[in-house]
Amino acid sequence: MVILAENAGFCFGVKRAVEAVEKNIDKSIVTLGPLIHNKDVVQSLEKRGVRCVESIDDVNVGEKVVIRSHGASPDVYAELKSKGIDYIDATCPFVKRIHERVCEARDSGHYVIIVGEVGHPEVDGILGWAGENARAVYSEDDVAALPQIPEAVVVAQTTITQEKWHTILKAIETKIGRITPFMSICSATHQRQNEAKEIAQKAGTIIVVGGRQSSNTRKLFELCKRYCKNVYHIEHKSELSLEKMRFGDIIGIVAGASTPDTMIREVFNYMIENEKVLPVAEGEQMATEETAANDMVEIAEDSASTADESAPSPEVSEKENEKTPEAPATEKDEFLEGLEKVVRLKKGQLITGNIVQVTDDDVCVNIGYKSDGIIHRNELSMYDIDPKEVYHIGDEIEAEVISLNDGEGNVLLSRKRVERKLNWQKMQENVGTDKLYKCTVKKAVKGGVTTKIDGYSAFIPASHISLKYVEDLKQFEGKELEVTLIDADKKQERLVASYKSVLLKEKKEQEKKIWESYSKGQHLTGVVKRLTDFGAFVDVGGVDGLLHISDLAWNRVKHPSDVVSEGQELELVVLNVDSAKKKIALGYKQLQPKPWDLVSDKYHVGDVVKGRVVRIVPFGAFVQLEPTIDGLVHISQISAHRLEKVEDELRIGDEIEVKILEVNADKHKISLSKKALLPVVEKPMEKKEESEREESFHYEIPPVQESTVSLADFFPKKDE
Ligand code: SF4
Repeated sequence: MVILAENAGFCFGVKRAVEAVEKNIDKSIVTLGPLIHNKDVVQSLEKRGVRCVESIDDVNVGEKVVIRSHGASPDVYAELKSKGIDYIDATCPFVKRIHERVCEARDSGHYVIIVGEVGHPEVDGILGWAGENARAVYSEDDVAALPQIPEAVVVAQTTITQEKWHTILKAIETKIGRITPFMSICSATHQRQNEAKEIAQKAGTIIVVGGRQSSNTRKLFELCKRYCKNVYHIEHKSELSLEKMRFGDIIGIVAGASTPDTMIREVFNYMIENEKVLPVAEGEQMATEETAANDMVEIAEDSASTADESAPSPEVSEKENEKTPEAPATEKDEFLEGLEKVVRLKKGQLITGNIVQVTDDDVCVNIGYKSDGIIHRNELSMYDIDPKEVYHIGDEIEAEVISLNDGEGNVLLSRKRVERKLNWQKMQENVGTDKLYKCTVKKAVKGGVTTKIDGYSAFIPASHISLKYVEDLKQFEGKELEVTLIDADKKQERLVASYKSVLLKEKKEQEKKIWESYSKGQHLTGVVKRLTDFGAFVDVGGVDGLLHISDLAWNRVKHPSDVVSEGQELELVVLNVDSAKKKIALGYKQLQPKPWDLVSDKYHVGDVVKGRVVRIVPFGAFVQLEPTIDGLVHISQISAHRLEKVEDELRIGDEIEVKILEVNADKHKISLSKKALLPVVEKPMEKKEESEREESFHYEIPPVQESTVSLADFFPKKDE
């Protein structure tokens, strides 16, 4: 049976680094040291133009440097900056976290001890950040050689084994009184190692696939050898030797964090295909397992061509392995159990933690679990945000668990899902309120248009898209609208919105402003919109006011059309405003001169004018000279002879010519004489009679009636 470890292949940090290179492959980029410890990958990148340089001096002008997942010391960053070389920092967030820890320790004056392989690029980088008071140790001899110091902060290289950490930590504790350990072995590493151990315990043969310069691959090899007799470390399928494997054995395949999936698959498929043709074990003695493993390693080493001088060779590791006793099983288990006890997680659970790392692409959160939580950029928010701008180390963050293991042992979290839930809650609370949401209409569909509001699907019914009926909804496609929410479907997370509600509100506000702008006595211009029997409705800038028939002219008006017509522009005065009832009374005649004001200019004593008899009284006849201007022809001024009664000479409606005897505009009086236009006939008159007639000449003309109309009387009902 062939078993392939679940946690095999690129880890989170390596994946990030490879993706960073892939993203920039079209630019001139070089990696500072091999991007990963896998020569096939490095060669393939070289073929695609990605050079690997060992020193910044080898970087050509215009080339961009990629700092690999191992990280680099501050000197490297300083040199790049001083030389003006652009760079992409692909340092794994877990490694960056160690940098920060050692910087804190350095700044607070602590000695730093790094449990890791001296000369490994990751350890070199950490040493750089830790400052002068720091040392890397990987054996008890190294610990013994440490200076006598009272206390120290101890960190681990991310890829060492738990056993190594415990052993060295104990030795350090014995030598140094007070230590502050920071167990920084990466979760991807220890999950990989745990799984490798499990498989090795039950397998007859273990194949470890990965670069010989890869520290974590070598550790897997060392670990497996403790539990399995036949362990082969190969870099490529071609190095496999089936001769020493036996049919019926469990064959386990594990791989380092820098081994590409394709390579692992090749080995796995090859073993599946050839499993059945393996020789049967039938009492046959295999070569001693240790020798077999070493043979295989030796063959593989011969074929290696790009050994990393700085990394310890497999032989060194094996030797160290011999010297390093395995940590007691109970101690390891207790440690792991302890971690697991801190918090139990399940998918979909909400968890709060503190941010320990922020990069351009993700945020790392300490959630008190055996491994930290990772929130990738696309899971950070419903919107596209720059993690560094929004989040900072130490911030508390609530997120949802989306996976307990992304294949690298990381817990994957999503802040976006939490935001979405909170947002939906808010959306529901805002249904039926005035809260405005911006949206762009996507498509006209049957009965309305579709859109997205804050990432949720939404629908605007046709009856809510305008104040009027809209025939063609397509005119709204692509339009940006501000809408309110009128319903929310919780099950489908769909919203129903209204644009009409916004338009209505705007209209009301506009009207309110208009009403507030009117005041009694104000002069304004309006356009006649509609005529009725009782007056005219006039648009005075968004609202309609009533111009009552009695306010159209100073004279009596039979119908408004006698004075104004629809569409005519008028200068008006506000007679009354009732903004609560939205009624405004307008006056037109009030801006026109009163007829009696013009009388002195128009009529003079001695003028002969024409008029019509409109009223007959005992002392004379009233003659209308023009609408609202009547003059009196006293009975004594009607005829040359004495009249018993006016009707003897005049009838209502008679058109007559008269001479003006007197004009008194203030008292609205004009005295007229018909007799004065007749030929003079001398006839003596009795004195008494004459004086009686003179007395009755003093008459009172009733004043022109002013408008006494109440607003309530003439305003039409709402429907009108
Ligand atoms: S092994 Fe761990 S620390 Fe190292 S690059 Fe991978 S994820 Fe990062």
